[in-house]
Amino acid sequence: MPRVPAPTALPMTTRYRGRFAPSPSGRLHFGSLVAALGSWLLARAADGEWIVRIEDFDRERTVPGAAEDILATLHAFGLDSDTTPVRQSGRGALYRDALGRLAGAGLAYPCRCSRSDLAAFRGIHPPACVARGDDSRPPAWRLRVPDETIRFVDAIQGEQRQDLRREVGDFVLWRIEEAAAYQLAVVVDDAAQGITDVVRGADLLDSTPRQILLQRLLDLPTPRHAHLPLAVDGYGRKLSKQEQSLAVDATNPLPALRAALAFLGQATPRGGNVEAVLSHAVAAFDPARIPRAPSAPAPYAALRKDVS
Ligand code: GLU
Repeated sequence: MPRVPAPTALPMTTRYRGRFAPSPSGRLHFGSLVAALGSWLLARAADGEWIVRIEDFDRERTVPGAAEDILATLHAFGLDSDTTPVRQSGRGALYRDALGRLAGAGLAYPCRCSRSDLAAFRGIHPPACVARGDDSRPPAWRLRVPDETIRFVDAIQGEQRQDLRREVGDFVLWRIEEAAAYQLAVVVDDAAQGITDVVRGADLLDSTPRQILLQRLLDLPTPRHAHLPLAVDGYGRKLSKQEQSLAVDATNPLPALRAALAFLGQATPRGGNVEAVLSHAVAAFDPARIPRAPSAPAPYAALRKDVS
């Protein structure tokens, strides 16, 4: 097994390009608004571009109409993509090509492990496949994970390290359902779209070493990372679309916009419209004030809008 190749550097002259990459599995909720706003603020403060990518490669989780609803809600919050949003559902050929490169180099292999095989591994697939599953179905494809620790420095969460073989195991690149897995799709798209800075919720912090490994194996540059604090409910659980958590109200964006700014440790001007609040937020933006730790948004009850 070759060692992990050295990182490919971002070109020094590259202009900042950030992104917000929602999965259209429901309406935009407060946690996603924080991710959208945080990535937008960091991009604007760096005089950079900000784009939206719809991560709808997982057909089972995609709710019809949710992508349009999310884009319309972002628009109501003054957060418009600088380019036409790309949808992952139309990009399968790119992901398949990346899988082919990894398989061709002996770095990916087909896996027919059954659910019970996987359960026995306790979520950490070992470097060899026991393959007792049904071979009439297409296999999943996994990455052959090298025995190395991936390290990186997150701009908000600080130094990170993960021993991929022991903590994650050989992970899925291509699912039995004949679709790219999130880790592969995100790496291919971040590179294809020239993303220099990945800013997203801290729930994805532990996916980042897998993505860095894939970038190195595919000879793609690794973007900088900043993982925003997670918005949690009163029990410390992540706000999520699938759990029908608090959707933000696109017809009355200011309360949620101010709450999201406060959540990110930023000043929240009184009065004004969305545009004025956003331009004040960019002018007064101080990334050092973004907290690391998860918390519940302050005016929690005020954000509530029943989700149908
Ligand atoms: N699509 C993912 C989500 O909605 C985010 C992916 C990313 O930012 O890398 O949770």
